[in-house]
Amino acid sequence: MRKTPLEQWIAMKTGLKGTEALTMDALRQLQLASVRKTIAYAARQSLFYRDHLRGYDPERIKTLSDLASFPFTTQHDLAESGLQFLCVSQSDIERVITLLFPGFEDIPRRAFFTPEDLELTVDFFHHGMATLVKPGWKVLILLPGDRPGSVGDLLVTGLRRMDVQGIVHGIVQDPAAAIREIVEQEIDCLVGIPAQVLSIVRHEQAETIPSGRIKSILLSADYVPGAVVEELERLWECVVFSHYGTTEMGLGGGVECEALSGYHMREADLFFEIIDPDTGRPQPDGTIGEVVFTTLTRRGMPLIRYRTGDLAAFLTDPCPCGTVLPTMDKVRGRIRDMVRLRTGDWLGIPDLDDTLFSLPGIVNFTVSIAPGRDRDHMTVEIYPAAARKRHGTEAVVAALQTIPQIGSAISDGCLQLEPVSFTDENKVMTGTIKRTINRKPEQRP
Ligand SMILES: [Zn+2]
Repeated sequence: MRKTPLEQWIAMKTGLKGTEALTMDALRQLQLASVRKTIAYAARQSLFYRDHLRGYDPERIKTLSDLASFPFTTQHDLAESGLQFLCVSQSDIERVITLLFPGFEDIPRRAFFTPEDLELTVDFFHHGMATLVKPGWKVLILLPGDRPGSVGDLLVTGLRRMDVQGIVHGIVQDPAAAIREIVEQEIDCLVGIPAQVLSIVRHEQAETIPSGRIKSILLSADYVPGAVVEELERLWECVVFSHYGTTEMGLGGGVECEALSGYHMREADLFFEIIDPDTGRPQPDGTIGEVVFTTLTRRGMPLIRYRTGDLAAFLTDPCPCGTVLPTMDKVRGRIRDMVRLRTGDWLGIPDLDDTLFSLPGIVNFTVSIAPGRDRDHMTVEIYPAAARKRHGTEAVVAALQTIPQIGSAISDGCLQLEPVSFTDENKVMTGTIKRTINRKPEQRP
């Protein structure tokens, strides 16, 4: 098993010579110095942080754990203060990405990047992708990429640096068209969103792709369902890696190594913490909490202790690949997307993904929960791979009942499953909008 290429990249970024091995001690020292520098820079240059960090002296941070006494930056701060986050003049900004998430459409959050900031992302894509592609390969990018500075565009630039050709296909709107491009262009590797790549492998024309054609896949999302990974590995006999990153992180965050057991992060560019989402206190390794990060090298819009809303943990065991870098376990979903059932149990899209995507012939689905007078009502609509591959609704209902939170809510009389329906319209494939459980308005009198 190859060690993650990120280790050598990070060692180089920390200023170590080629022969010197990276140690966690050296890395933490670099992060400490960068955290102090970032806080001083942001407090001096950004109107938001000038106010937000008043009274907080970065020189008081003697160890990285001292950072815990500094205030968080929230998604609401970003939505409300927008331009006030900027540390450079607007003319220095090369790319603005507006983040629109379900429920947040009314208050768009914007992330600003200078050309130097974008270069950091390209450099990460270059070294991160070295995990799963080889020189001479062709990568089909199933992400937006028509605009300069978009994720697809940056990925193409990063891949070119190791003699790999990136071809931007864009978001999958027609799986048959993506399949044709894979065959015609002789694609070796795919980069895409889990549900969209599943729509390709489960499409009836997927058999036109020669066996062994696809050698590796990178799934990029805040949550990668195990059932999707297994299906891709089974049908295409390829290796499936996951990437975790958000726009605020600079599009890239961390990528799996050959051990496929969690992400190694961009530790020279980002410092990560895991906190208890209720108390805000740091969580020990091995305990799930909210992912929080501080940018270490960002110039246009540095972020300090930014709360992502994503749930994950750092693993306590060293990675089998042999790196000294920490490993972040697969992200378990987003806090604000968890729905509280009347039993008190939380239910998230990851619970449903793992179960429903393991049924053959299902490409996507939507789930809604509407509160009623005596119980909640759950509606599930399935988008099948093909009309002839429609599953019996009994199989879907049986699968849903195996999800512990749903099973116990039904047996307690708190939840009613409405008849499962099928649709010919793949509603959730209209963009990179993240999938979530729809919460219908309160219907109780
Ligand atoms: Zn590893």
